[in-house]
Amino acid sequence: MNTPPNHIVIVGGGTAGWMAANLMSHQWAKFNCTITLIESQAIGSVGVGEGTTPFFQGFFDRLGIQESEWMQAANATYKCGIRFPDWVSNVNKTSYFHPFYSHIDTPQVPLFFANANFRREGMEVDAHPDDFFVTAKLADQCRSPIAKSDSLQRLDYGYHFDAGLLGEFLKKKGIQRGVRHIDDKVSDVRLDANGDISSVIAVNAGELTADLFVDCSGFKGLLIQQALGEEMVSYQSQLFNNSAVAIPTAIDCSKGLPSETVSKALSNGWVWHIPLANRFGNGYVYSADYLSPEEAELELRQHLGSKADGVKALHLNWTPGRITHHWKNNCIAIGLSQGFLEPLEAPMLNIIQRSIENFVELYEKSGFTREYQQEFNQDINSLIDGTRDYLQAHYKLNSREDSQYWKDCRSNINQSKELKAILDGWLSNTNFDQVLRDNIHNQVYFKTSWYCILAGMDHFEEVNKPAVRAAKRNHHRAKEASLAKAERFVEHKEQLKIIYNC
Ligand SMILES: Cc1cc2nc3c(=O)[nH]c(=O)nc-3n(C[C@H](O)[C@H](O)[C@H](O)COP(=O)(O)OP(=O)(O)OC[C@H]3O[C@@H](n4cnc5c(N)ncnc54)[C@H](O)[C@@H]3O)c2cc1C
Repeated sequence: MNTPPNHIVIVGGGTAGWMAANLMSHQWAKFNCTITLIESQAIGSVGVGEGTTPFFQGFFDRLGIQESEWMQAANATYKCGIRFPDWVSNVNKTSYFHPFYSHIDTPQVPLFFANANFRREGMEVDAHPDDFFVTAKLADQCRSPIAKSDSLQRLDYGYHFDAGLLGEFLKKKGIQRGVRHIDDKVSDVRLDANGDISSVIAVNAGELTADLFVDCSGFKGLLIQQALGEEMVSYQSQLFNNSAVAIPTAIDCSKGLPSETVSKALSNGWVWHIPLANRFGNGYVYSADYLSPEEAELELRQHLGSKADGVKALHLNWTPGRITHHWKNNCIAIGLSQGFLEPLEAPMLNIIQRSIENFVELYEKSGFTREYQQEFNQDINSLIDGTRDYLQAHYKLNSREDSQYWKDCRSNINQSKELKAILDGWLSNTNFDQVLRDNIHNQVYFKTSWYCILAGMDHFEEVNKPAVRAAKRNHHRAKEASLAKAERFVEHKEQLKIIYNC
């Protein structure tokens, strides 16, 4: 194994900076490796980012931190998946649930695939995903993904949390692990003759040298973009949204605590509702080409009603896209400095986690080797591009007629050839599973997710023949099984009482 760098400087103390500090200090604890994290509390962090995918379970498992400990510290709740109301209109069901697929779904899922393929052939069958997955039923019933008895296998699930509190928790843990913390502003970055970063200059702390620099400075990409000249490749032509307005509201759990993110389409974008232990996080994601910040805030306030009265709104904007070289010379970019995709499927923390884990693994193999840098960059690029395609599919498949925005999203011809092949392949006579195998290389969204979005958004031709009997049976059997299995899981509110000791 290649020994880690002697000294690492991480610039930035948002979620990305502290995730990197914790994972690197844990992984390289037995080596004489010094990690310094410099952040400017006066500049602050982005302060949003409240939902995860199931991959996040692995982050804390790896650090050996109990779920009950960090969840309590971050007002966290469980997440069974994401519900997407109103992305389609003029159909029977205008909402579908994107579940976190687990082993418990194994008997029902082939029935779902079979029905979706019957429906692709024009049969009148129920191929909507919601009755085929246990987590969809858990979310319907405000249950947690934790089983009443240990005899059931653990489900894959995600979390919702307060980003500010999670940042504080990670910071405390990082400092306990020996990460040196400096609150100061980086004002300059110096390069040596090879183009490597030799040091960063802080206003009060002066010059900080290191072997490896980690750029977690957020959207501005202080090291990777500004100092090393890495350019952002814009995805604006594929993903129109570049702005958000967020307003938290109180949460009323009298009828149960939701265990799902809701991503509901509005007139010119979509709104997230994320249930935390003490409040809802809400935010309207939209394109500034179609809506002004004032119009967006007004629409969000109307949507939220009196609960939002007097609560200050936070406005954010970005350019969707990514850089090409996330690991360049002796610098690695993690977090918003490496790119950004809108939070529609909460993908960013997964990209952060995978970037750090892949980097550590490859660095241990052979240090700053060009070949491994290339492998790393290609892997992260295809992860981000595959995620972008899955996000864009939501927009391509919408059937709303109420605004130019939705019509433009649907007719947008700027899409990758992989996405086009998937969308066309679904409506054609071909073997769709083969189309997927050919086009989803290295993505996070696999067969189940693609079937769910395509069937859930009713992307089918007209019905032209009656159902075969097996199809009706499939739906009935899967629904009964999902409902019966869901009963074996603890109510979300009750499970949180256990986690929070109250
Ligand atoms: C509207 C919105 C919703 C989101 N929702 C989700 C979600 O649901 N799920 C998800 O996974 N992700 C989500 N994200 C993304 C997520 O918020 C970020 O990926 C995550 O917070 C990581 O941010 P970061 O640490 O890279 O940057 P930041 O939080 O911006 O941190 C940057 C750090 O750099 C420091 N810094 C900057 N300049 C200097 C300087 N000159 N000197 C010293 N320090 C400096 C700052 O002080 C700060 O500590 C969302 C993002 C947005 C915009």
